Amino acid sequence: MASSLIRRISLSAARRGGVYGLLRRVNQGPTVLFYHGIEEKLSDPEVQSLHLPLASFERHIRYLRRHREIISTDYLYDCLMNGHRLDPRQVVLTFDDGYKNNAEILAPFLKGWDLPFTVFISTRHVLEGRRFQVYLLRTAFLYTEHKVIHLASIQRSFEAGTPQAKRSALREASAAMKEAPLRIVEWMMSECRQLLRPERWAELDQRFASDEPMNWQDVIRIQSMGATIGSHCHDHCILHSEEPPPEVRSQVMDSKRVIEQQFGECKFLAYPNGTARDISATAYQSVREARYRMCFTTIEGEITAKSDLYYAPRVFAQPDFEEFCYMLNRTGTQNESYDMACRSFQSGNAVSAAANRI
Ligand SMILES: [Zn+2]
Repeated sequence: MASSLIRRISLSAARRGGVYGLLRRVNQGPTVLFYHGIEEKLSDPEVQSLHLPLASFERHIRYLRRHREIISTDYLYDCLMNGHRLDPRQVVLTFDDGYKNNAEILAPFLKGWDLPFTVFISTRHVLEGRRFQVYLLRTAFLYTEHKVIHLASIQRSFEAGTPQAKRSALREASAAMKEAPLRIVEWMMSECRQLLRPERWAELDQRFASDEPMNWQDVIRIQSMGATIGSHCHDHCILHSEEPPPEVRSQVMDSKRVIEQQFGECKFLAYPNGTARDISATAYQSVREARYRMCFTTIEGEITAKSDLYYAPRVFAQPDFEEFCYMLNRTGTQNESYDMACRSFQSGNAVSAAANRI
């Protein structure tokens, strides 16, 4: 606790003392930031950890407006394709999953500032009003009254008798879920649903309205308010090598088709989870075949002329303001590790970045 306070005081001093001007000298290109939801108030930050309070988000935006230029994903793509100079001051705002608060809070807020943004939606969640997998897992594990949780889907049992045991069980189950194919994840979700009574779920779903997905009317509304709508797969399916290739292909194709039927085009995709191990060779090949223009990972780095358009870096927008400013100004220091991740992925898949500019 004390060390995190000392860190924040040091970061604040660094920001006020102009240290970030020195850090920025290594910056080479725009930063694509990613968020999830924006909420007025959070009642349980452990369950609602993907949502940033509006007051914190407003502080981010005020800082970005003062020090950076917020551009759209389309503008970024056009600059890359037309060889226009990329400016390290430029920032793109993206939001993953497609939460209802994107329509109720985020879009009206950003429209008020006339700022562009992109929302990557998981299309089946939006079409069917299904809650996202991480919400079901977190809520089931943190609120169950069972002392032991057994999940036949992953052949694991977890102690859950104390809040600490619940948290540790949640961490392990969450890691297992992210490595499992969709078929097992769906089975896990039905088991999670059984960990609480239906009345308890109804009560918690209402309390955590932040985690409800948008419906299709909401998506149409935010698009009319300046949002670019991109794909986040059909079932928020993580496209790692455990996922069978036919499923990977239908995830990237189906979500694109659903969005195109409404808006005429779907140019961008964000890989769910999006780390290096969450993107298989089949996934990479499939997004190219589906003719997306640009696909985003969660591997840190800046967009430069060398970036692989189908393996583009993004940076997580840290909730804490001082951490956010620090991270934003040091993005250039991440470029080398992004380049390495990119090279190892490309050599594994025998393709070059140049060949991807189709
Ligand atoms: Zn996601």
